[in-house]
Amino acid sequence: MKSGFVQDQWSMNGGRYTTVSGYEWLMGTQIQVPWVPVVWNRLNVPKHSFIAWVYVEQRLLTKDRLCKFGMAVPTECDMCMVHPETHAHLFFECSYSRACLDRVNEWLGVRIPVCEPIQWCLQLRYKSLMKKQVVFAAVCGLVYLIWWARNKCRLEKVLTHPAILTQELQKHVQIRYQNQHWRGKDQRQGSWITQIGFS
Ligand SMILES: [Zn+2]
Repeated sequence: MKSGFVQDQWSMNGGRYTTVSGYEWLMGTQIQVPWVPVVWNRLNVPKHSFIAWVYVEQRLLTKDRLCKFGMAVPTECDMCMVHPETHAHLFFECSYSRACLDRVNEWLGVRIPVCEPIQWCLQLRYKSLMKKQVVFAAVCGLVYLIWWARNKCRLEKVLTHPAILTQELQKHVQIRYQNQHWRGKDQRQGSWITQIGFS
C-alpha cells in the first residue's frame, strides 16, 4: 500500500487516501471488452449472464476441450449425434441449436446470425433501450438454455424439444421484463411488446 502512495497514485487526491483510489490501484489496469452491455445487461437472468460470459470467453467445457485436457470422452454432439461437439458446433451450427435459434428469431421478429450473435447484438441500432435489452436478454438466455439442454441430454439422455426450450426462454425474459416495470414507459414499443406476447 505504501508503494501505491509513493508511486504518486494517490497524490492526485491531494495525497489523501480514499477507498476508491486504493481499490483502483489494487485492481491495476482493466481491459475493456466490447460485450459488457450484452452479457451484463440488467434484464438478463443472472445465471444467463454468467454462462454467456463463459461462452464469449469460449471457456465452456465442450467435448473438444475435454479431449484436449486428456479426457477420454466420445466426441460426437449428444444432440444431433452427427458432428463433433465444439464451441462453434454447439453455438449454432448444430441442427438442434439452429432450430432453437430459428424459433427465437420468429418470436422476436429478428435475424440473429449463427455466427457471432453477441457481436450482432452490439451492432443493433434500436432507439428503444427496452427493445434492445429484451433482445440481449433473449440471446444470453438462449446461450444458457442451449448449454442447459446439452447437459441434460448428455447426463439424462433426454433432449428438450426446441419449442419447449423457446417457451422456457420466453418465460424467463418475460418475468425479468415485468419486474423491470417498463410498462407504460416506452409507448412506442407497445405493439412490439404485444407481438412478442409480453402484454
Ligand atoms: Zn450437434
